[in-house]
Amino acid sequence: MFIQRFIGKFVLSAAMLAFFILILAGCASSSTGKLIEGKTNVVTSFYPLYFLAQQIGGESANVINMIPAGVEPHDWSPKSRDLDTAAKAQLFLYNGAGLEGWVDDFLEGLPTDSKLITVEASEGITKISGSPEEDNDATDAKHVDPHTWVSPKSMLVMANTVQKNFVKADPAHKVAYTANYDKLEQRLKELDREYTDALSKTPRKDIVTSHQAFGYLARDYGLKQVAIMGLSPDAEPKAQDLLRITKFVKDNGIKFIFFEELVSDELAKTLANEANVSTMVLNPLEGLTPEQEKKGEDYFSLMKANLQNLVQALQ
Ligand SMILES: [Zn+2]
Repeated sequence: MFIQRFIGKFVLSAAMLAFFILILAGCASSSTGKLIEGKTNVVTSFYPLYFLAQQIGGESANVINMIPAGVEPHDWSPKSRDLDTAAKAQLFLYNGAGLEGWVDDFLEGLPTDSKLITVEASEGITKISGSPEEDNDATDAKHVDPHTWVSPKSMLVMANTVQKNFVKADPAHKVAYTANYDKLEQRLKELDREYTDALSKTPRKDIVTSHQAFGYLARDYGLKQVAIMGLSPDAEPKAQDLLRITKFVKDNGIKFIFFEELVSDELAKTLANEANVSTMVLNPLEGLTPEQEKKGEDYFSLMKANLQNLVQALQ
């Protein structure tokens, strides 16, 4: 019964969401960043890479994030003017592992004499494969979990890759890039230690999340993720999956269901209601909301908030 009511509500809210996305897309679907002569121009495909590039590039870099604040990256694709800007930059950073469905066409379309250095930032990280049996429109790309940046351990690898490519693109500022990177590395290692310490002490290990964005975090810090949706937040769950998760929540004494800000919280709230538990935010860091951007939130502040919520949920 509740499932039908709920699916009805979900379809309605999904339609409304699509409508608002269309409106948003009309006015602000691409970044307004401009290339600056005399700086190392870096174009990034989404927030975590923008953050890394800003931290490592410092004053020598002009970093342009393609995707605007408040938009989740899974089903977003850039406009041709964003791609033109990227093609004229010195450095182009994308996550890879199937996150940017549009990126292969972009890379193949670059002129053969292009000097653009293109970097697949998730390179060198041992990937997790998704769960095909829970995936509705399964293709090979969707079978790899792209959410590497959500684990501080993987973010360390990504930061190192970004730094090496900054030096390659602009060797004249190697000393500055290396110094910036060293600071960032220290902070990421500290974050990794905080995660390791806090999560090794929690009595519970199961997290129930909206979309399957926490696989690397779970792998690296000994948690087990149960996701309501698939690797991409638009993959609609089946009724039997929702029943299975509700049962899991009840059977395992789960106290909180996690939701996230860039995606509708309808599913998480309905499930939490049904299972008589609460909801809490767990941010997959796929982008900042305009409010978070204004408040000066960043990867570290949001990851620390995530850790607090995880510790509370896992008591
Ligand atoms: Zn995601």
